[in-house]
Amino acid sequence: MFITSVSVQPCTSNFRKFIVSLFILVSLFSLFWIYFFFLNPLRPKNIIVMIGDGMGPQQISLAMQYAKQAPGSAIQDATLNLERLMQEGELGLMGTYIHQNLVTDSAGSATQLATGAWTRAEMVGLDHEGNRRETVLEKAKRHGKAVGFVTNTRMTHATPAGFYAHQRHRSLENEIALDLLELKPDVAFAGGLRHFLPKNLDMGNEKIPLMLVSKRKDDRNLIQEFRNAGYDILYSRQALETFSASHHAKVLGFFDVSNLPYVIDTRVYQQDSNFPYPSLKEMSLKALEVLSKNKHGFVLMIEGGLIDYAGHYNDTGMMLHELLAFDEAIGGVMDWISGRRDTLLIVTADHETGGFGLSYSKNNVPPPKALSGDAMKNAWYAPKFNFGNPEVLDRIFKQKKSFEKILEEFEALAKMEQKPQALQKLTNENCEFKISLEDAQNILKTEPNTFFIKDHEYLGDPEMPKIHDFKEFYVYGFENRCNLMGRAMAKEQQVVWGTGTHTSTLVPIMSYGPSKISKKFSGYIHSTKVGQTLLDLID
Ligand code: MG
Ligand code: ZN
Repeated sequence: MFITSVSVQPCTSNFRKFIVSLFILVSLFSLFWIYFFFLNPLRPKNIIVMIGDGMGPQQISLAMQYAKQAPGSAIQDATLNLERLMQEGELGLMGTYIHQNLVTDSAGSATQLATGAWTRAEMVGLDHEGNRRETVLEKAKRHGKAVGFVTNTRMTHATPAGFYAHQRHRSLENEIALDLLELKPDVAFAGGLRHFLPKNLDMGNEKIPLMLVSKRKDDRNLIQEFRNAGYDILYSRQALETFSASHHAKVLGFFDVSNLPYVIDTRVYQQDSNFPYPSLKEMSLKALEVLSKNKHGFVLMIEGGLIDYAGHYNDTGMMLHELLAFDEAIGGVMDWISGRRDTLLIVTADHETGGFGLSYSKNNVPPPKALSGDAMKNAWYAPKFNFGNPEVLDRIFKQKKSFEKILEEFEALAKMEQKPQALQKLTNENCEFKISLEDAQNILKTEPNTFFIKDHEYLGDPEMPKIHDFKEFYVYGFENRCNLMGRAMAKEQQVVWGTGTHTSTLVPIMSYGPSKISKKFSGYIHSTKVGQTLLDLID
């Protein structure tokens, strides 16, 4: 009895201790597990990379200053989603230069971001020696994730191509289209139908509510080939809206023949229910709906691709509207992510375009004025220069058409009507910043092309628009008349442009998501390192 009771008592208390210790251990282990793998995982289930093509720091400043400083700012709470992202996520600066060159193009930059490999200008999905390199989309697919992309440029344009194609030159868009068939993404929404239609345009029963144009040199009907591979194909905003993703859905959306229209040229129609072009935000949200059906997660690239076009054309009004559309898409994506702890969002640019900036000048120096401060008694506030009136931002926003569209309408006039007066009239009807007859004459002036290269896509014309300074940096032939329009308005817009191409300035990179992961993209980082880190995050 005695022995038993003595031996039983400590045994019970030991057992209790054991149970308590086990409970504590299991709880600690669970907390640890919850913290590391749920609240702060080492790898995200989903990755979303958003690229504002040509969206350098000065472009972001324009959009933010419009939001905050324009007296008529159309932005809710004067706060852009880019600002929310900078506040709530991590902020870094990214170097974009490529192998043995100072400045990148979009193909080189996309390739470095998507593969982590150093590459050369105008190459897609190849390293600097021309070897095929696996992209984040390809790796994610290999690991069972869903993959896709959204862009308002062509399906086969340089930025998306860098994420799935492997070609020695970005201009090989017909071959790039075949690479898309190879990748078989779960979703891709873009323009660029012309590289998917057979040369003979024989589309059988396929109903396509777009102009039928083909750039293919063969009779391959890639739309039919995608259909045979189980794809749904959409051609309008209405079809996108009503498309409902099933578990096995694979879907492509072609919403135009080439790039989608610029926001500035269509914004008065966008609320119309018949408007056929989806916004970047609408495409992005539908892509998320499709991709999130995959239980292993997804990788999605979203490009605001036309900011770059506005930069190339030195068209500030167009650029502001493209930036705001990109920001709206960022907002949609952030709302989708909010409350989740399994998704990494990266927002960055591939390079800056245009050498753009708001700048102070000696034009319209304001008159002295009285201020109420105690140090201002008996004196005027008299700045020596014009530091820029924020009302300029409202006037930039009010521009009705892109310079490209205005010049297109000018070119559509009968030859004998294509006079400087007509250009002046068309421009001044659509822009708050009026040009003079002399400005219009200058925009239409040409000179012999001293950079002539036979059969060159852009330098093959014997005549070129007459550019007055830095003419070496205005490389796009007659498109550069847009730049002359931009120059004519610049002094009133309080704007300067340094080039018609790209600059190598560091671009912001913002990351949002589980902090252990998003921190990897803060501080200084080069685009190749971003690519390597993204690849490492897929396992
Ligand atoms: Mg692009
Ligand atoms: Zn560009």
